[in-house]
Amino acid sequence: MAVVSDPDRRLRGTAVIGGRLVGTVVGIRDGHIVSLEADDPRPAADRVGDDLVIAPGFIDVHVHGGVGVDVTEGPAAIARLAAALATRGVTSFVPTAVSAPLAELAAFAAAVSTARLAAEASDAGGPGTRRPVRRRATANAGPSARILGANLEGPAIDPAHRGAHDPAAIVDPAVLAVAWRERPGDWSEVRAVTLAPERPGGLDLVRLLAGRRVVASIGHTGATFAEAEAAYRAGATSTTHLFNAMSGLDHRAPGTAAAALADGRAFAELIADGSHVDRALWPLLWRILGPRLLLVSDGIAAVGVGDGSFRLGGGTITVRGGRATRPDGTLAGSTITVADAVANLVAAGLTLPRAVAAATLAPARLLRRRGLGRIAVGAAADLVLLDAAGLVRRTMIGGAWLDETA
Ligand SMILES: [Zn+2]
Repeated sequence: MAVVSDPDRRLRGTAVIGGRLVGTVVGIRDGHIVSLEADDPRPAADRVGDDLVIAPGFIDVHVHGGVGVDVTEGPAAIARLAAALATRGVTSFVPTAVSAPLAELAAFAAAVSTARLAAEASDAGGPGTRRPVRRRATANAGPSARILGANLEGPAIDPAHRGAHDPAAIVDPAVLAVAWRERPGDWSEVRAVTLAPERPGGLDLVRLLAGRRVVASIGHTGATFAEAEAAYRAGATSTTHLFNAMSGLDHRAPGTAAAALADGRAFAELIADGSHVDRALWPLLWRILGPRLLLVSDGIAAVGVGDGSFRLGGGTITVRGGRATRPDGTLAGSTITVADAVANLVAAGLTLPRAVAAATLAPARLLRRRGLGRIAVGAAADLVLLDAAGLVRRTMIGGAWLDETA
Protein backbone atom coordinates (compact mmCIF):
# COMPACT_ATOMS: atom_id res chain seq x y z
CA MET A 1 0.00 0.00 0.00
CA ALA A 2 1.23 3.47 -0.74
CA VAL A 3 2.13 5.69 2.16
CA VAL A 4 1.31 9.32 1.58
CA SER A 5 2.08 12.33 3.71
CA ASP A 6 -0.15 15.40 3.62
CA PRO A 7 0.70 18.84 5.00
CA ASP A 8 -0.59 18.25 8.55
CA ARG A 9 1.63 15.15 8.76
CA ARG A 10 -0.73 12.23 8.53
CA LEU A 11 0.66 8.93 7.32
CA ARG A 12 -1.79 6.55 5.73
CA GLY A 13 -0.72 2.97 5.27
CA THR A 14 -0.15 -0.41 6.85
CA ALA A 15 1.46 -0.09 10.27
CA VAL A 16 2.92 -2.48 12.84
CA ILE A 17 0.64 -1.97 15.85
CA GLY A 18 0.17 -4.40 18.72
CA GLY A 19 2.13 -7.11 16.94
CA ARG A 20 -0.06 -7.01 13.83
CA LEU A 21 -0.21 -5.25 10.49
CA VAL A 22 -3.07 -2.76 10.61
CA GLY A 23 -4.37 -0.28 8.06
CA THR A 24 -4.04 3.03 9.88
CA VAL A 25 -3.79 6.77 9.59
CA VAL A 26 -1.06 8.00 11.95
CA GLY A 27 -1.49 11.63 13.01
CA ILE A 28 1.71 13.44 14.06
CA ARG A 29 2.20 16.79 15.77
CA ASP A 30 5.09 18.35 17.70
CA GLY A 31 7.22 15.25 17.36
CA HIS A 32 4.65 12.85 18.77
CA ILE A 33 1.92 10.55 17.55
CA VAL A 34 -1.33 12.33 18.40
CA SER A 35 -3.94 10.13 16.73
CA LEU A 36 -4.47 6.70 15.24
CA GLU A 37 -7.50 6.24 13.05
CA ALA A 38 -8.72 3.01 11.58
CA ASP A 39 -8.20 2.81 7.86
CA ASP A 40 -9.60 0.38 5.36
CA PRO A 41 -6.98 -2.38 5.35
CA ARG A 42 -7.77 -3.20 1.72
CA PRO A 43 -5.65 -1.04 -0.53
CA ALA A 44 -7.77 1.41 -2.47
CA ALA A 45 -7.11 1.38 -6.18
CA ASP A 46 -5.67 4.87 -6.21
CA ARG A 47 -3.24 4.12 -3.41
CA VAL A 48 -1.65 0.92 -4.61
CA GLY A 49 2.00 1.47 -5.36
CA ASP A 50 4.84 1.29 -2.90
CA ASP A 51 4.70 -1.81 -0.75
CA LEU A 52 5.79 -0.19 2.48
CA VAL A 53 4.96 -0.76 6.13
CA ILE A 54 5.08 1.90 8.85
CA ALA A 55 7.00 0.58 11.87
CA PRO A 56 8.45 2.13 15.03
CA GLY A 57 12.08 3.22 14.65
CA PHE A 58 14.63 0.69 15.84
CA ILE A 59 16.33 0.84 19.25
CA ASP A 60 19.80 -0.65 19.81
CA VAL A 61 20.68 -1.15 23.48
CA HIS A 62 24.09 -2.71 22.76
CA VAL A 63 26.31 -0.93 20.24
CA HIS A 64 29.99 0.00 20.53
CA GLY A 65 30.49 2.00 17.37
CA GLY A 66 30.14 2.30 13.63
CA VAL A 67 31.28 4.32 10.61
CA GLY A 68 34.85 4.15 11.86
CA VAL A 69 34.23 5.53 15.37
CA ASP A 70 34.09 3.87 18.79
CA VAL A 71 31.74 5.39 21.37
CA THR A 72 34.58 5.57 23.92
CA GLU A 73 36.31 8.22 21.77
CA GLY A 74 34.16 10.97 23.28
CA PRO A 75 31.04 13.07 22.71
CA ALA A 76 31.86 13.95 19.09
CA ALA A 77 32.24 10.28 18.18
CA ILE A 78 28.94 9.46 19.90
CA ALA A 79 27.22 12.27 17.99
CA ARG A 80 28.72 11.04 14.72
CA LEU A 81 27.42 7.53 15.40
CA ALA A 82 23.99 8.95 16.33
CA ALA A 83 23.76 10.65 12.93
CA ALA A 84 24.95 7.55 11.06
CA LEU A 85 22.57 5.17 12.85
CA ALA A 86 19.63 7.43 12.05
CA THR A 87 20.27 7.06 8.32
CA ARG A 88 19.94 3.30 8.79
CA GLY A 89 16.63 3.35 10.67
CA VAL A 90 18.01 3.23 14.22
CA THR A 91 16.21 6.05 16.02
CA SER A 92 17.52 5.43 19.57
CA PHE A 93 20.59 3.72 20.99
CA VAL A 94 22.57 3.09 24.13
CA PRO A 95 26.31 3.65 23.54
CA THR A 96 28.14 0.67 25.00
CA ALA A 97 31.67 0.36 26.40
CA VAL A 98 33.56 -2.90 26.90
CA SER A 99 35.57 -3.61 30.07
CA ALA A 100 38.00 -0.84 30.98
CA PRO A 101 39.43 0.68 34.18
CA LEU A 102 36.64 2.19 36.32
CA ALA A 103 37.96 5.74 35.89
CA GLU A 104 37.78 5.33 32.10
CA LEU A 105 34.25 3.96 32.32
CA ALA A 106 33.18 6.90 34.51
CA ALA A 107 34.66 9.24 31.89
CA PHE A 108 32.78 7.33 29.18
CA ALA A 109 29.49 7.73 31.08
CA ALA A 110 30.19 11.46 31.43
CA ALA A 111 30.87 11.72 27.68
CA VAL A 112 27.57 9.97 26.90
CA SER A 113 25.82 12.44 29.18
CA THR A 114 27.52 15.37 27.42
CA ALA A 115 26.54 14.05 23.99
CA ARG A 116 22.96 13.39 25.09
CA LEU A 117 22.51 16.82 26.67
CA ALA A 118 23.98 18.54 23.60
CA ALA A 119 21.57 16.65 21.32
CA GLU A 120 18.61 17.49 23.53
CA ALA A 121 19.63 21.16 23.72
CA SER A 122 19.58 21.35 19.92
CA ASP A 123 15.98 20.15 20.00
CA ALA A 124 13.53 23.01 20.15
CA GLY A 125 10.82 21.00 21.82
CA GLY A 126 12.57 19.93 25.00
CA PRO A 127 13.43 16.41 26.12
CA GLY A 128 12.06 13.70 23.89
CA THR A 129 10.80 16.10 21.28
CA ARG A 130 12.32 17.15 18.00
CA ARG A 131 10.74 19.92 16.01
CA PRO A 132 11.57 19.77 12.35
CA VAL A 133 11.23 23.51 11.75
CA ARG A 134 13.92 24.45 14.23
CA ARG A 135 16.13 21.56 13.20
CA ARG A 136 16.09 22.80 9.61
CA ALA A 137 17.42 26.15 10.79
CA THR A 138 20.59 24.59 12.19
CA ALA A 139 23.69 23.96 10.15
CA ASN A 140 23.69 20.29 11.07
CA ALA A 141 22.28 17.51 8.95
CA GLY A 142 18.94 16.00 9.87
CA PRO A 143 17.88 14.57 13.19
CA SER A 144 20.10 12.03 14.88
CA ALA A 145 19.28 8.89 16.82
CA ARG A 146 18.35 9.60 20.43
CA ILE A 147 20.99 8.77 23.02
CA LEU A 148 19.34 6.80 25.83
CA GLY A 149 22.21 6.69 28.35
CA ALA A 150 25.26 4.46 28.66
CA ASN A 151 25.70 0.69 28.70
CA LEU A 152 28.66 -0.93 30.47
CA GLU A 153 29.50 -4.38 29.11
CA GLY A 154 31.75 -5.32 32.02
CA PRO A 155 34.10 -4.99 33.78
CA ALA A 156 32.50 -7.20 36.50
CA ILE A 157 32.65 -10.32 34.33
CA ASP A 158 34.20 -13.79 34.48
CA PRO A 159 37.83 -13.77 33.25
CA ALA A 160 37.27 -17.27 31.83
CA HIS A 161 34.46 -15.97 29.60
CA ARG A 162 36.00 -12.62 28.72
CA GLY A 163 35.77 -12.97 24.93
CA ALA A 164 37.43 -9.90 23.44
CA HIS A 165 37.59 -8.00 26.76
CA ASP A 166 40.90 -6.84 28.28
CA PRO A 167 41.69 -9.22 31.18
CA ALA A 168 43.55 -6.45 33.04
CA ALA A 169 40.34 -4.41 33.32
CA ILE A 170 38.17 -7.14 34.83
CA VAL A 171 37.10 -6.70 38.48
CA ASP A 172 34.85 -8.57 40.89
CA PRO A 173 31.24 -7.34 41.04
CA ALA A 174 31.94 -6.36 44.67
CA VAL A 175 34.50 -3.81 43.45
CA LEU A 176 32.04 -2.22 41.03
CA ALA A 177 29.36 -2.18 43.77
CA VAL A 178 31.70 -0.26 46.09
CA ALA A 179 32.45 2.28 43.35
CA TRP A 180 28.72 2.65 42.66
CA ARG A 181 27.90 3.28 46.33
CA GLU A 182 30.83 5.63 46.94
CA ARG A 183 30.47 7.73 43.78
CA PRO A 184 26.89 7.33 42.52
CA GLY A 185 27.25 10.46 40.41
CA ASP A 186 29.85 8.73 38.25
CA TRP A 187 27.25 6.21 37.12
CA SER A 188 24.05 8.24 36.89
CA GLU A 189 24.08 8.07 33.07
CA VAL A 190 24.36 4.27 33.06
CA ARG A 191 21.21 2.39 32.02
CA ALA A 192 22.57 -1.17 31.73
CA VAL A 193 25.45 -3.26 33.08
CA THR A 194 26.62 -6.70 31.96
CA LEU A 195 27.99 -8.79 34.84
CA ALA A 196 28.82 -12.33 35.91
CA PRO A 197 26.52 -13.03 38.88
CA GLU A 198 28.53 -16.00 40.15
CA ARG A 199 31.60 -13.85 40.80
CA PRO A 200 32.20 -12.40 44.31
CA GLY A 201 29.46 -9.89 45.14
CA GLY A 202 27.51 -10.73 42.00
CA LEU A 203 24.02 -10.99 43.47
CA ASP A 204 24.59 -7.91 45.63
CA LEU A 205 25.48 -5.93 42.48
CA VAL A 206 22.36 -7.25 40.71
CA ARG A 207 20.21 -6.02 43.63
CA LEU A 208 22.01 -2.68 43.74
CA LEU A 209 21.44 -2.08 40.02
CA ALA A 210 17.84 -3.29 40.05
CA GLY A 211 17.13 -0.99 42.99
CA ARG A 212 18.40 1.95 40.94
CA ARG A 213 16.42 0.95 37.85
CA VAL A 214 19.57 0.04 35.97
CA VAL A 215 19.29 -3.06 33.77
CA ALA A 216 21.40 -5.90 35.17
CA SER A 217 22.25 -8.17 32.25
CA ILE A 218 23.89 -11.56 32.76
CA GLY A 219 26.78 -12.13 30.41
CA HIS A 220 30.45 -13.00 29.95
CA THR A 221 29.70 -15.47 32.71
CA GLY A 222 30.39 -18.99 33.87
CA ALA A 223 27.16 -19.14 35.90
CA THR A 224 25.48 -22.50 36.23
CA PHE A 225 21.76 -22.85 35.57
CA ALA A 226 21.07 -22.38 39.31
CA GLU A 227 23.39 -19.38 39.63
CA ALA A 228 21.80 -17.68 36.64
CA GLU A 229 18.32 -18.45 37.99
CA ALA A 230 19.30 -16.81 41.29
CA ALA A 231 20.45 -13.71 39.42
CA TYR A 232 17.16 -13.38 37.56
CA ARG A 233 15.33 -13.81 40.86
CA ALA A 234 17.51 -11.06 42.37
CA GLY A 235 16.44 -8.64 39.65
CA ALA A 236 18.50 -9.25 36.51
CA THR A 237 16.24 -8.46 33.55
CA SER A 238 18.38 -9.30 30.56
CA THR A 239 20.99 -11.63 29.13
CA THR A 240 23.91 -10.34 27.08
CA HIS A 241 24.38 -11.88 23.60
CA LEU A 242 22.69 -15.21 24.35
CA PHE A 243 24.85 -18.32 23.81
CA ASN A 244 28.05 -16.26 23.43
CA ALA A 245 30.54 -16.09 26.33
CA MET A 246 28.35 -18.27 28.56
CA SER A 247 27.53 -21.93 29.15
CA GLY A 248 24.91 -23.27 26.80
CA LEU A 249 22.20 -25.84 26.42
CA ASP A 250 23.95 -29.12 27.27
CA HIS A 251 21.08 -31.41 28.21
CA ARG A 252 22.98 -32.91 31.16
CA ALA A 253 24.56 -29.67 32.31
CA PRO A 254 22.22 -26.80 31.43
CA GLY A 255 23.94 -23.47 31.85
CA THR A 256 23.26 -19.76 31.63
CA ALA A 257 21.69 -19.94 28.17
CA ALA A 258 19.24 -22.59 29.35
CA ALA A 259 18.34 -20.49 32.40
CA ALA A 260 17.80 -17.44 30.18
CA LEU A 261 15.39 -19.35 27.96
CA ALA A 262 13.61 -20.90 30.95
CA ASP A 263 13.24 -17.72 33.01
CA GLY A 264 10.02 -16.46 31.46
CA ARG A 265 10.62 -12.78 32.37
CA ALA A 266 14.13 -11.71 31.44
CA PHE A 267 15.01 -10.51 27.96
CA ALA A 268 17.73 -12.23 25.93
CA GLU A 269 19.89 -10.42 23.40
CA LEU A 270 20.31 -11.98 19.97
CA ILE A 271 23.02 -10.82 17.56
CA ALA A 272 21.31 -11.90 14.34
CA ASP A 273 24.32 -11.69 12.04
CA GLY A 274 24.65 -15.42 11.31
CA SER A 275 28.04 -15.67 13.04
CA HIS A 276 27.11 -15.45 16.73
CA VAL A 277 24.09 -17.78 16.65
CA ASP A 278 23.22 -20.06 13.76
CA ARG A 279 20.26 -18.89 11.69
CA ALA A 280 18.51 -22.22 12.16
CA LEU A 281 18.00 -21.34 15.83
CA TRP A 282 16.42 -17.91 15.32
CA PRO A 283 12.81 -19.04 14.72
CA LEU A 284 13.16 -21.47 17.63
CA LEU A 285 14.40 -18.66 19.86
CA TRP A 286 11.37 -16.60 18.94
CA ARG A 287 9.08 -19.51 19.78
CA ILE A 288 10.68 -19.83 23.22
CA LEU A 289 11.29 -16.17 24.04
CA GLY A 290 8.45 -14.41 22.19
CA PRO A 291 8.37 -10.77 23.33
CA ARG A 292 11.51 -11.39 25.43
CA LEU A 293 13.62 -11.73 22.27
CA LEU A 294 15.82 -8.62 22.11
CA LEU A 295 17.71 -7.83 18.92
CA VAL A 296 20.99 -5.97 19.40
CA SER A 297 23.79 -5.23 16.97
CA ASP A 298 26.87 -5.41 19.25
CA GLY A 299 28.21 -3.34 16.35
CA ILE A 300 31.79 -2.08 16.41
CA ALA A 301 33.58 0.74 14.59
CA ALA A 302 33.72 -1.41 11.43
CA VAL A 303 29.95 -1.13 10.83
CA GLY A 304 29.44 0.57 7.49
CA VAL A 305 33.18 0.67 6.77
CA GLY A 306 34.09 -2.76 5.45
CA ASP A 307 37.07 -5.00 6.09
CA GLY A 308 40.17 -3.79 7.91
CA SER A 309 41.66 -3.29 11.38
CA PHE A 310 39.81 -1.51 14.17
CA ARG A 311 40.22 -0.72 17.87
CA LEU A 312 37.92 -2.16 20.54
CA GLY A 313 38.60 -1.83 24.26
CA GLY A 314 42.34 -1.35 23.82
CA GLY A 315 42.74 -4.34 21.48
CA THR A 316 42.95 -4.71 17.74
CA ILE A 317 40.09 -6.32 15.86
CA THR A 318 40.40 -7.64 12.33
CA VAL A 319 37.34 -7.65 10.08
CA ARG A 320 37.27 -10.01 7.11
CA GLY A 321 34.14 -10.75 5.15
CA GLY A 322 32.11 -8.88 7.77
CA ARG A 323 33.39 -11.13 10.59
CA ALA A 324 35.14 -9.28 13.45
CA THR A 325 37.73 -11.28 15.40
CA ARG A 326 40.65 -10.85 17.76
CA PRO A 327 44.07 -12.21 16.73
CA ASP A 328 43.24 -15.53 18.48
CA GLY A 329 40.04 -15.94 16.45
CA THR A 330 37.57 -14.94 19.22
CA LEU A 331 34.49 -13.17 17.85
CA ALA A 332 34.62 -9.49 18.81
CA GLY A 333 31.28 -7.83 18.13
CA SER A 334 29.48 -7.57 14.82
CA THR A 335 29.47 -5.43 11.71
CA ILE A 336 25.70 -5.16 11.39
CA THR A 337 23.16 -2.61 12.56
CA VAL A 338 20.04 -3.63 14.44
CA ALA A 339 18.15 -2.71 11.25
CA ASP A 340 20.16 -5.37 9.41
CA ALA A 341 19.23 -7.79 12.20
CA VAL A 342 15.52 -7.16 11.60
CA ALA A 343 15.87 -7.88 7.87
CA ASN A 344 17.92 -10.99 8.66
CA LEU A 345 15.16 -12.31 10.96
CA VAL A 346 12.58 -11.72 8.23
CA ALA A 347 14.79 -13.59 5.76
CA ALA A 348 14.97 -16.44 8.30
CA GLY A 349 11.19 -16.76 8.26
CA LEU A 350 9.95 -14.58 11.11
CA THR A 351 6.97 -12.38 10.34
CA LEU A 352 7.70 -8.68 9.95
CA PRO A 353 5.76 -7.68 13.12
CA ARG A 354 7.70 -10.22 15.20
CA ALA A 355 11.08 -9.17 13.86
CA VAL A 356 10.18 -5.50 14.34
CA ALA A 357 8.99 -6.06 17.93
CA ALA A 358 12.36 -7.55 18.88
CA ALA A 359 14.05 -4.27 17.88
CA THR A 360 11.41 -1.81 19.09
CA LEU A 361 8.97 -2.88 21.80
CA ALA A 362 11.41 -5.27 23.49
CA PRO A 363 14.24 -2.74 24.00
CA ALA A 364 11.75 -0.02 25.01
CA ARG A 365 10.25 -2.31 27.64
CA LEU A 366 13.68 -3.34 28.89
CA LEU A 367 14.62 0.33 29.36
CA ARG A 368 11.13 1.24 30.67
CA ARG A 369 10.70 3.83 27.92
CA ARG A 370 6.97 3.70 27.28
CA GLY A 371 7.18 6.65 24.90
CA LEU A 372 9.46 4.83 22.47
CA GLY A 373 9.36 1.67 20.38
CA ARG A 374 5.66 1.62 19.62
CA ILE A 375 3.09 3.25 17.40
CA ALA A 376 0.67 4.60 19.96
CA VAL A 377 -0.91 7.92 20.84
CA GLY A 378 1.56 9.86 22.98
CA ALA A 379 4.63 7.98 21.77
CA ALA A 380 7.46 9.77 20.00
CA ALA A 381 7.02 9.95 16.22
CA ASP A 382 10.13 7.87 15.58
CA LEU A 383 9.19 5.75 12.58
CA VAL A 384 10.65 3.80 9.71
CA LEU A 385 9.14 2.74 6.41
CA LEU A 386 10.04 -0.86 5.65
CA ASP A 387 9.68 -2.90 2.51
CA ALA A 388 8.42 -6.48 2.58
CA ALA A 389 11.94 -7.77 3.26
CA GLY A 390 12.18 -5.55 6.33
CA LEU A 391 14.68 -3.16 4.74
CA VAL A 392 14.54 0.49 5.79
CA ARG A 393 13.42 2.87 3.07
CA ARG A 394 12.85 6.04 5.09
CA THR A 395 13.34 7.20 8.68
CA MET A 396 11.49 9.76 10.79
CA ILE A 397 12.75 10.98 14.17
CA GLY A 398 10.58 13.24 16.30
CA GLY A 399 8.19 13.85 13.42
CA ALA A 400 10.89 14.88 10.91
CA TRP A 401 11.91 12.75 7.95
CA LEU A 402 15.67 12.54 7.66
CA ASP A 403 15.66 13.33 3.97
CA GLU A 404 13.63 16.49 4.58
CA THR A 405 16.03 18.00 7.08
CA ALA A 406 19.34 17.03 5.52
ZN1 LIG B 1 29.35 -5.97 23.06
